Amino acid sequence: MDKNTQEIIDLDQQYYLDCFGRRIPLVIDHGDGCYVYDEAGNAWLDLVGGIAVNVLGHGNAALANAIAEQAQAVIHCSNLYYNRPQTELAVALCERTGYDKAFFANSGAEANEAAMKLARAYYYKNGSDRYEIITASHSFHGRTLATLTATGQEKFHKGFTPLPAGFKYVPFNDLAALREAVTPQTAAIMLEPIQGESGIWPADPAYLQAVRQLCDEEGILLILDEIQSGMGRTGKFLAQELYGIRADIVSLAKGLGGGVPIGAILSTAEVATGFTPGMHGTTFGGGPLACRAALTVLDEYDRLGLLENAATVGSYFKDRLSALAADGLITAIRGEGLMIGFDLPVPESGALRDKLFERGVLVNNPAPSTIRLLPALILTKADVDDFIAILAEVLA
Ligand code: PLP
Repeated sequence: MDKNTQEIIDLDQQYYLDCFGRRIPLVIDHGDGCYVYDEAGNAWLDLVGGIAVNVLGHGNAALANAIAEQAQAVIHCSNLYYNRPQTELAVALCERTGYDKAFFANSGAEANEAAMKLARAYYYKNGSDRYEIITASHSFHGRTLATLTATGQEKFHKGFTPLPAGFKYVPFNDLAALREAVTPQTAAIMLEPIQGESGIWPADPAYLQAVRQLCDEEGILLILDEIQSGMGRTGKFLAQELYGIRADIVSLAKGLGGGVPIGAILSTAEVATGFTPGMHGTTFGGGPLACRAALTVLDEYDRLGLLENAATVGSYFKDRLSALAADGLITAIRGEGLMIGFDLPVPESGALRDKLFERGVLVNNPAPSTIRLLPALILTKADVDDFIAILAEVLA
């Protein structure tokens, strides 16, 4: 480790609140495409992508120029006034997805807060006492008090009680359990189409379709948290398209701003009537800088064909991993497009992550036996080949 890296790590340990338990001795200096570099110029193939954020890769010129231009014009202007990038982004996202209304926040957790508040507000407006939100075990919805409560994993609840009331958890992909949990007070069922943080666990298509039907029958809103699975990661703009269903509210964040913080909810016109002026808001959300970044991300998706690339390179990636599975080096491969998880025969994902780091590759290990890959959607087959060659050597 060079002197500058050690200096930053030491200062970080002294001054930065230790929330992340950082294990990897990398101080990222800059990036280019699918690679990141430290201050000494060493390169790593970045298959973490800022955890599904750096959809355009690093150093995208159009994005950098748009941000610079917008910063010169106006960075922030309060939601008391209109701003063109915000309006244009709302139009672009609604036109792309078929939803009627958009609202912008600053992060995934804030987008989910807005989604859950909107669901409750919708029933409140209609004079109904529905307020309960049902989520799945092993889900992840954020770190604010309400979103960590929505998160169906006890480890995220510890130390933060009392938690907000009105949340229930059911096993994922278990329709009978979900039916059982529904009551006349159920306002919404909130699910990730593909659970990300717990290690890339897709919903069964029949399950998600039946959940949609259950919601329709019982008058419950379906919220899909597409913060990780959305923005083209699966090869479709929204993963729900793979399932042939439509949620009443969808939340987005991560890749939306290509690295500039922004979250969003999209909803039907009917559900959007739940919020009236004054019921929800944000100082920074929907600011011109973040919205201009997001508009540029959408333009770059079209210019570079990134949905198609995510589908093609993702399927090639899974094929290449399958060969390693045939050799018994890995035991399961899950996911769609460039949202990929694979399991190891032993609970050594941390050791594999560290070995790959030494060989110039960044991967994430969300569970003891699971490796997660969320690279930029510009990833090429050649990048996949480079990774597979290194992975095969390391695993052998
Ligand atoms: N929902 C899902 C599915 C996520 O993957 C995440 C982040 O990993 C969040 C919500 C929270 O987003 P943020 O960290 O931007 O608050």
